[in-house]
Amino acid sequence: MDALQPVRGTRDLLGEDHRRHAHVVGMARRIAGLYGFDEWATPIFEDTRVFSRTLGETSDVVSKEMYSFTDRGGEPVTLRPEGTAGVCRALVSNGLTQSLPQRVFYAGPMFRYERPQKGRYRQFHQIGAELIGPSEPLADAEAIALGRDILRGLGIEGQTVLELNTLGDAESRDAWRHALVGYFSDVRGGLSDESQARLERNPLRILDSKSDQDQALVADAPLIDASLTAAARDHWDELRRALNRFGIAFRENPRIVRGLDYYSHTAFEFVTDRLGAQGTVLGGGRYDGLVAAMGGPSTPAIGWAAGIERLSMLLDDVPEAPRPVAVVPVGEAVLPAAIGVLQALREAGVRSEMAYRGNLKRRMERANRTHARIAIILGDEEVARGMAQVRDLDAGGQQEVALAALPAHVRSLLG
Ligand code: ATP
Ligand code: MG
Repeated sequence: MDALQPVRGTRDLLGEDHRRHAHVVGMARRIAGLYGFDEWATPIFEDTRVFSRTLGETSDVVSKEMYSFTDRGGEPVTLRPEGTAGVCRALVSNGLTQSLPQRVFYAGPMFRYERPQKGRYRQFHQIGAELIGPSEPLADAEAIALGRDILRGLGIEGQTVLELNTLGDAESRDAWRHALVGYFSDVRGGLSDESQARLERNPLRILDSKSDQDQALVADAPLIDASLTAAARDHWDELRRALNRFGIAFRENPRIVRGLDYYSHTAFEFVTDRLGAQGTVLGGGRYDGLVAAMGGPSTPAIGWAAGIERLSMLLDDVPEAPRPVAVVPVGEAVLPAAIGVLQALREAGVRSEMAYRGNLKRRMERANRTHARIAIILGDEEVARGMAQVRDLDAGGQQEVALAALPAHVRSLLG
């Protein structure tokens, strides 16, 4: 029979890949905790409307990337393409809109039907944080500080730059959209086909185009700055002041619009030049309209998400799996003693394993293959005296140790 393959755009996470992944999640979870965030886990599939109503009909995600299907009961469901919509849905479903602020951290798989390439998969994983309730720019700055501290904890802050923009409030954006439509209509023939279609449906999206042809025209497009209302400008000024107070360096980039429709005011991305076209590692912004779009009361919020695969690729220091202790019984008669030693070591928190068969030589070969640090050799005669041989596989020395003293002795050798 043919060997079955993973579905295109999905990957198995084994060994070191999984350790990198777990390290990213563990670090993010710990630092989010220091910022007062609680972890939530929402379902990986939702009513399709959770996404279609909120992310924007014309966004890339809704228009072409969602894994949507009708389940056996006839319900339209979608594998979540991102985490924020589900968190807001959960906030409303659980009656938490009156218990604000909520500081929410999450980690888990997301699904988008995209062309797979390095750093871009159909099942990928994100960590994310949502600060729901506060409208103050200080909250935006604190959410960004959390992202920065996670990158710092992972040792990759230096490989990234924080790019920052404002998308203004609804009034600012309407005025800006008007200016963009005027500008792009004049140069329409020079735009890619896709962007010509965007001009009708969602002109802001042209700024996010990855086509070189569009980028040349985007360079001279009107900026939002000229369209900002006084209130939007205040938020923008306050945000930059607050970031300075948190000691966070940033670069203003008026071209950041973000891929989803629900953003207002703050938009930001931590970008790197080490991952080719997949340069955004962590991105987010303010989404004051999303909870209302989910059927809740109007609720301000700020959040971000980061791709775990992209963070993992930037990690220099990959955590090593701890080296095991090999328990080596010589002969069947000492098997009960060997199992006793294994259990005592594991209870003492020591990673340990035992081969199920083989003579002394075979078992020592197996210990080397597992990169064991220590071998505990149990012979008939020693076990009868309540003793075992402890061999240091790095230094080469061997020592007789009482069975009862093994866990403490091994722990001290492991340091
Ligand atoms: P891009 O412009 O690279 O498509 P995006 O704007 O669609 O990114 P977001 O929706 O903001 O991305 O998701 C936040 C982060 O999740 C991204 O910065 C990236 O690190 C990661 N991400 C998004 N899509 C994928 C994917 N298909 N595979 C791997 N990681 C992804
Ligand atoms: Mg995308």
